[in-house]
This record gives sequence, C-alpha cells and structure tokens, in this order.
Amino acid sequence: MNVVTRFAPSPTGYLHVGGLRTALYSYLYAKQQKGTFLLRIEDTDQARLVEGAVEALISTLKTMGLPPDREPYIQSQRLGLYREHVQRLLDKGDAYYCFCSKERLTALREEQQAMKSPMKYDRMCLHLSKDEIASKLASNEPYVVRLLVPEGKTTFTDEIRGEITIENKEVDDQVLLKTDGFPTYHLAVVVDDNDMHVTHIIRGDEWISSVPKHVILYNMFGFAIPKFAHLPLILNPDKSKLSKRQGDVAVEDYLAKGYLPETLINFVALLGFNPTADREIYTFNELIELFDLSKINKSGAVFDHAKLDWMNGMYLRTKSTQEILTLAKPFLEKANVEINSAFLTRICEIEKDRLVTLQDLADRALEYLSAIEYDPAMLVWKKADVADARMHLHSLQTLLEGTLNETFDDRALLEASVKKYIEEGSYQNGNVLWPLRAALSGKEKSPNPFELIWMFGKEESLKRLSHALSLLK
Ligand code: GLU
Repeated sequence: MNVVTRFAPSPTGYLHVGGLRTALYSYLYAKQQKGTFLLRIEDTDQARLVEGAVEALISTLKTMGLPPDREPYIQSQRLGLYREHVQRLLDKGDAYYCFCSKERLTALREEQQAMKSPMKYDRMCLHLSKDEIASKLASNEPYVVRLLVPEGKTTFTDEIRGEITIENKEVDDQVLLKTDGFPTYHLAVVVDDNDMHVTHIIRGDEWISSVPKHVILYNMFGFAIPKFAHLPLILNPDKSKLSKRQGDVAVEDYLAKGYLPETLINFVALLGFNPTADREIYTFNELIELFDLSKINKSGAVFDHAKLDWMNGMYLRTKSTQEILTLAKPFLEKANVEINSAFLTRICEIEKDRLVTLQDLADRALEYLSAIEYDPAMLVWKKADVADARMHLHSLQTLLEGTLNETFDDRALLEASVKKYIEEGSYQNGNVLWPLRAALSGKEKSPNPFELIWMFGKEESLKRLSHALSLLK
C-alpha cells in the first residue's frame, strides 16, 4: 500500500502549534513509509478568508522543513467535484434539499435548547414532494443540501483511541452543500481524501466527533475507509486547552521570537509522543525512523514553555558563533546592531552558551553597546569598602593602560596578568575581581571580568573603569 497522508488546514493567516504537530506527524509517517505527504487548503468557508494566508502557510511549512510532495490542493478550485458528489447522493436519496430559512433554523435551535433536547434538524424539508422541490428550485429559492443520516449505528477504529461506536440517531443531518454553492468541510474532506487516495488521516482530537458523519458518507459513496488517528489536545500548564491568553499559539510568533525551526519541530514532536522515553533531543531523521502511531498518548499534552526554552538553548549550543550570527541577523538588524563588528562576534562568543533565543543575542548586544547606569554602591564587594574598591580599580586601570594592545586578544593572558596582580598583593579575589567585573558590566551578574575585557577591548574597558572611578569619588 502506498501511504498517503495530508495536512488540511483552513487558511487562518497563521500556523497553530497544533497544526504544526498535525503536519509534522503526517509528514513523518509518510516519509517513514516511503509514501506521499500532501497539503490541502480547506478554504470553503468564504466568510473566513484571510488575504495572503495560503502563501504564508506554505512558506511557514517550508521554513519548518515540511514541504508537501505535490503542489497544494485548493478546495475552492474544486467546486465542480463536490457538486458532482452531492448530485450522486441526491440521486440515490442519500441527501435532500432543504429550503428552511435562517430564521426557522434559529427558532428550531432555540426551541431545542429550551427543551434541552439534542440540536438536530427536524427534517421538515425531507417531506417536500418532487414538484415542490422543482418549483422552489425553478424560482431560485436559496437551499442547502443535507445528508440523510440512515438508521442504525456507525463504528470506526481510531488508531489512537480504538474502536468507537455511535448511534446514528445522535448524528445531525449535516449540511453538505451551502447556499453559496460551496461544500461544507464534511463533504469536501471525504470527497478529497478519497480523490487524493489518502490512506491515513492524522489530525487533532477536535475532529473525532465528525468521523461518524464521514464514515456514513464513505459508505454511501462506496469509498474505502482510510485509517484515522486523532491526536491528543495540546494543553496549557493548568490543563485548559492551549489558548492565546496563556502564550503564543502561532508558529510564526515563536520564529519571530528567535526559536529555531529545529527546536520547534523537536518540541512539537514530543507533544503526545516520546519515541524512546530516555531523552528529549531527536534529529529529524530519528523522528522519521522512530515515529509510531501506536505510541501516541490518548491524554492531552502540556505545552511546557520552560522545556521549549531549554530545548532552544540546547540547539543553539550545537551551533558555531558564525552560525548563530547568521541566524540572528534579522534580529540584530531589527535592533539596529552593527552586524559586522568584531565586538559583536565577541559578544556572541561570550554569550552563546547562555542564549535562550536568537532575540537574546540582540538584547545582550544592545545592553553591552549602550551606556551603563548603575548604583555606585554595586562596585563595592560585600566584604570590602569604597576606598578598597577605588584603590583596586585605580591599580587595574594602570595595569590595563600598560598592557599591550595584542594582549587584549588573549583571554588567558589577560587573566594571568590580573591574577598576578592579586597574588603579588596577596589580595582576596573578591576585592579585585568584583569591582572590576561590576565596573565593566554595570551589573550584579555578568560573565567573568576577563571575558568582559576581551570582549570590550582596551579602549572601552578603560573607559568603563574610569567611569566607575568617577562614580566612587
Ligand atoms: N480544515 C480542518 C482544519 O482546519 C482540517 C481537519 C482535517 O484534517 O480533516 O483543521
């Protein structure tokens, strides 16, 4: 069997992390089985069209390394196919015209709500005679076409949840064709998955309740029923459904914050699935190899931001300084940081292992580049006093002034000469290194002073020392 999977998003203007997981799992499974991964744009809801959404989606999938194997299918360009299928159902009596007005349907719904009975169409139009239908059609009365749900039960197997049976009387006579001539999701999804020979439908849990309707349609058309796999919900840490209120949900937002595509792929892959359970970092090829529908959890998967941060840091640490600078270019440009400076390269070198996102590099660079402001009391080590801090800063100033320019390129030499000063004077490290580090960084916490001197170079280091000294007067 040639496996065919598909990702079938509605073009909302962004890719939801849940959508990324659906696309990823569909992609992984197709690649593992040497099958085909398709992209289908489900844009049959004309009221919800968003300009540029399709292009944005295709581009994000490409950035994430999940390009479809064929040109994307666009449902709004396939209306003829859906109409044909609706006609087949009408001809067989498996579907019927419904001319009920919005007002009537609203009133019906309100009545059912008040009675606390299930909300279903009451089949009024099922009883129209052929002539009545013909005359309504001839006078161009707006209509929809509804599925005539047969009696009995519907059973299907979900690869994750197992066998599910539903009494058909619980299923509404779903609208298949809308007044605007567009199909509903339910009709189009069945027609297309069959037309595209999709063998495995992998998608979010929110669609599982639609499957009985789809299976009824598959049976009416005589189509082979594909395998279904409904992925567990993605949850906020408080176990509510992942929502915008508790953080970003768009993949594009994470990219814009400086999370790497490979981090997002690895992170999202583990939402509801862990291939070996003994580690968290997997290469893309490992994910393809180890993907297993039968290992996907039934219960919801918590979106853990702290884990995402940790993972991005792990991925950044596998990169060289040059690679990080290249990746961070858009972030640095946006922050107006001079890209090609030796200073920036050194900042990156020093900060690399502490970065959580690419944006962090731009933030750090801006901090180092901007004038520093701090409370002069910070320059004094907790076991020392102002006079002591001033004395050491003054000596260090003299020491650095007398240090050769080339020495500033060598962290070890810089460290050796400051250490020599400490040793010769039998000082405590803290008395010397604290004010030095604080004067250079302007912060309570920062990289060590040798790294800072190396990063700033002679001129800027001396400038910072004399600024500190001026504050201690
Ligand atoms: N168009 C649906 C969505 O936006 C796809 C559901 C499916 O994959 O069948 O999520």
